[in-house]
Amino acid sequence: MTTLSPEDTHFLQIVIRMSLEARQAGKHPFAAIVVDASGVLLAQAINDALPPDGDPTRHAELIAAGRATHAAAREQLADATLYTSAEPCAMCAGAIYWCGIGRVVYALSETRLLTLTGNHPENPTLALPCRDVFARGQRRIAVAGPALEDDAAAAHHGFWSAPR
Ligand SMILES: [Zn+2]
Repeated sequence: MTTLSPEDTHFLQIVIRMSLEARQAGKHPFAAIVVDASGVLLAQAINDALPPDGDPTRHAELIAAGRATHAAAREQLADATLYTSAEPCAMCAGAIYWCGIGRVVYALSETRLLTLTGNHPENPTLALPCRDVFARGQRRIAVAGPALEDDAAAAHHGFWSAPR
């Protein structure tokens, strides 16, 4: 587990709370926000992977990262942090890279998430840490996590095993 600053803990608690609200709204329990270096919220999103409104590419991190590019200049994004309730998958890590966001803080590790979702057809979690994706990029992205994993896991308990 990563020890977080009080500010990082605060923002991670916000996305964990949002992930629970996503579940309550009938969505998958994932959420992400992007915050600039001075703590200003640039973008937020919950998972929207379910039809008919959403599609499987609409992960919270991907949506939030894209929205952040409309809210801030590239230099500001380089100093921004994306907080997410679960470690970004390979697709979202790619989006974070392409959007130029400089730092990621996540709660649940992808390994822990995989134990929660199993091979659920709506979320067949990849076993590929975001650090491995970022390591192949041309610029450095700082990563902190996992942290507050038990809090983040609570939003998933019973969700992936429940009949739809
Ligand atoms: Zn993703």
